[in-house]
Amino acid sequence: MRQPLKHYGIAIAVTAAAILLRWLVDPVMGDSLPLVTLFGAVALVVWIGGYRPAALVAILGYFASAYLFILPRGEVGLTTFANVVGLIAYAFTCLLIILIGESMRRAGAAAGERGELLQVTLHSIGDAVITTDIEGRVTSLNRVAETLTGWPKAAAIGKPLETVFRIINEQGREPAESPAMRALREGAIVGLANHTILVARDSSERTIDDSAAPIRDEQGKVSGCVLVFRDVSDKRQLEKQAASRLVDARTLASIVESSDDAIVSKSLEGIIQSWNAAAERVFGYTADQAVGKHISLVIPPERIAEEDHIIASLRAGRRVDHFVTERVRSDGRRIHVSLTISPVKDEAGKVIGASKIVRDVTQQRAAEDRERKLLADAVASNAKFRALFDQGALFAVILDVDGTIVEPNRRSLEGCGYAREQVVGRPFWEGPWWTSSAALIDEARTAVAEAAAGKSVRAEMPYVVADGRERTIDMTILSVRDETGRTLFLAAMGSDVTERRQLEDELRNLAADLSEVDRRKNEFLATLSHELRNPLAPLRNMVEVLQRAEGDPGTVRRALDTMERQLGQLVRLVDDLLDLNRITHDRIELRKAHVDVASIVRDVVHAARPLTEEMGHDVQLAVEAEPLYVHGDAVRLTQVFGNLLNNGNKYTPRGGTIRVTVRHRADAAEIAFADNGIGIAADHLDRIFEMFVQVDRATEVSQTGLGVGLTLANRLVQLHGGSIEAKSAGVGRGSEFVVRLPIAAERPGTETPAVPTPQTTRTYRVLIVDDNLDAGSSLALLLEIAGHQTSRAHDGPSALDAAETERPEVILLDIGLPTLNGYEVCRRIRKRPWGSSVLVIALTGWGQEEDRRRSHEAGFDGHLVKPVEYAELMTLLGRLQT
Ligand code: ADP
Repeated sequence: MRQPLKHYGIAIAVTAAAILLRWLVDPVMGDSLPLVTLFGAVALVVWIGGYRPAALVAILGYFASAYLFILPRGEVGLTTFANVVGLIAYAFTCLLIILIGESMRRAGAAAGERGELLQVTLHSIGDAVITTDIEGRVTSLNRVAETLTGWPKAAAIGKPLETVFRIINEQGREPAESPAMRALREGAIVGLANHTILVARDSSERTIDDSAAPIRDEQGKVSGCVLVFRDVSDKRQLEKQAASRLVDARTLASIVESSDDAIVSKSLEGIIQSWNAAAERVFGYTADQAVGKHISLVIPPERIAEEDHIIASLRAGRRVDHFVTERVRSDGRRIHVSLTISPVKDEAGKVIGASKIVRDVTQQRAAEDRERKLLADAVASNAKFRALFDQGALFAVILDVDGTIVEPNRRSLEGCGYAREQVVGRPFWEGPWWTSSAALIDEARTAVAEAAAGKSVRAEMPYVVADGRERTIDMTILSVRDETGRTLFLAAMGSDVTERRQLEDELRNLAADLSEVDRRKNEFLATLSHELRNPLAPLRNMVEVLQRAEGDPGTVRRALDTMERQLGQLVRLVDDLLDLNRITHDRIELRKAHVDVASIVRDVVHAARPLTEEMGHDVQLAVEAEPLYVHGDAVRLTQVFGNLLNNGNKYTPRGGTIRVTVRHRADAAEIAFADNGIGIAADHLDRIFEMFVQVDRATEVSQTGLGVGLTLANRLVQLHGGSIEAKSAGVGRGSEFVVRLPIAAERPGTETPAVPTPQTTRTYRVLIVDDNLDAGSSLALLLEIAGHQTSRAHDGPSALDAAETERPEVILLDIGLPTLNGYEVCRRIRKRPWGSSVLVIALTGWGQEEDRRRSHEAGFDGHLVKPVEYAELMTLLGRLQT
């Protein structure tokens, strides 16, 4: 819409201009030719805007001129005949001008469109196009041509074609004649000129294909030329490669055909794909007979398995090099061959087959066999060497350079249990002594190859003797050379190190065990010193308190209570330690009797009351069967139950519940201690009975111990023929320890439950003999408080003197005395006339059955184990006096 409007605007402007022009020349022209300027205006507007605006000019212009210039001026009207004729002539002339102008305009537009189409086509076409005029000057070039020649359009237009389009011959590199010039000259289409190189503006070169055709005008006259060309460098490169591959393939084929070695290719399935002339000679089959068949055609039946090994190597992309083996010919004859097999890969690198080079080494083998025999003969005939070789303690085998066994020594055959025939002539790595492990066989093969290359190889390897046992050999393979450096043969030597290896392993394990024990021992010592120190501090404090109490009975009582508790703790520790010692030396003895476990458990619960109350625990005792007799040691069972209850007490946070149950299950007495304390992690449960084992304390309530309680308890229960089981649902979920003891077979007859022995009410003259002055004096103090008279001695001879002069009624005699020990003192006392009536009681650290027996034999009346408890001493005195 806009364009026509503009054109009408132009029409009006041009009309106005034409009228103005006529008006300007009016003084000169007068009334003649009033419409003259309008013809030009119509012609101009028809060219610019087409026939419609032009018609507007003609009409508008006429009316304006009629009014202004045609007589009579000042009006528009066809008043005269001349006016009518004038108008007709004017209209006819304008019509002609418009017709001619419009047709010219249309022809111009059509030509413009064609030219534009041509330009667009040239630019978008893949080939380079250059056009020239008749003189060979460039008139246009498309974008591809700009790129290939390196000439931008602006620079190229008007230049001679040879400047922009420089070409040379591929072979001679001399300037070539442009086909465009020939096309111009001969007026004919000039076809593709091959092997032309275009030299671009920047001197880079490209191989191109080109052609040229003349441009003719309507009359058929040559007016220029169009040159079309394209870059064919890549195509040429590919052609060259294909050509060279063809040459290579031909060369290769002729090499393969003329090779002395058989060259065979096969698929991964083993199907033969090619078979050269040498293969025909070596195996006796023609290519026609072999191609398409399976390779087993030439493999002896017993060697078929080799093929699997080879295929496996190939699949893994590995070559097989100089593999010496046997094959069969078409006539059934066996031949020795050396195979080199390489994988054949497709373009993606996938293994698709194999090519084999097969060399017939039958003759070479025969020569080697002769050489080998010579070597064996030499070994055999050299008596000194033979003796040394055979009598040595080492396994020794002589191998030829290939690694084939020539001669084994006696030790190696006897040591392995193989016969000479089983090994001679076989490759070393195929010997019967290797386990069937492929890795091991490879290792042996590599070792031989390295030795042959001059390296001495040492390795510890497992080997198998004839009866199938696996042992270990420490083996060295080395090469023996002559003075020129040529390898004469290889020697493999070794010694059996099985026992040494085992010993080393055992030592290693032992060392590991020892360090574990050592670790536990150290931990134990640390705990022990801590545990010993624990009761000592309050003891010392309370001594101090006593000294300052100035007889205040309340303070003294409290101090004494504490001291008693702490002392009890110390004594328990020492007892545990002593028991531990006995356990490790298996010296625990039980004094068994028919005892009622139910009442023992009751006593234990009762005795522990102060401890459990201190912790605020609720201890519930449920006795389901009573009495419940077992054949056992009441003291030891008390120790076991005390320990378990004590643990429940220690490992349950304040205010817990401990359930103690005594029941009869099948033929066992079952005593269970269940608490709702910190529990035990599952992975600790089975180790908890081991000596010194304590669960990591960091996560526990701050309780202490030596980590021997459960060990002792377990051992003691075992000695009773019973068992202890530990159960826990996990950390924080309580623990339960169940003791099972066999029920006693028969009911107790004569045995009576222990009746409390009356304590003595009498007072005695007592001689106390102890080389520890404090021990002696404290005991004396105790006895004096009870009203007895005491005297003291510190060694054997003074004890005898004191007894002689003082005639005590009771002698408390330490056994471990310097110069004269307690046994001896007792024996001598008994020999005196007064000596038989005096009560002699042993005081000792040793309380074993054996110790009691000895003291009894020496003439002692009683045996007390240190530290002596006052109540126990009084009970003993009471019993002895009756
Ligand atoms: P200790 O002197 O350390 O108590 P024991 O041999 O009696 O030695 O116990 C060994 C370990 O077993 C303890 O350190 C503790 O970790 C664990 N244990 C024993 N009894 C209990 C229990 N009732 N609850 C939780 N843990 C226990």
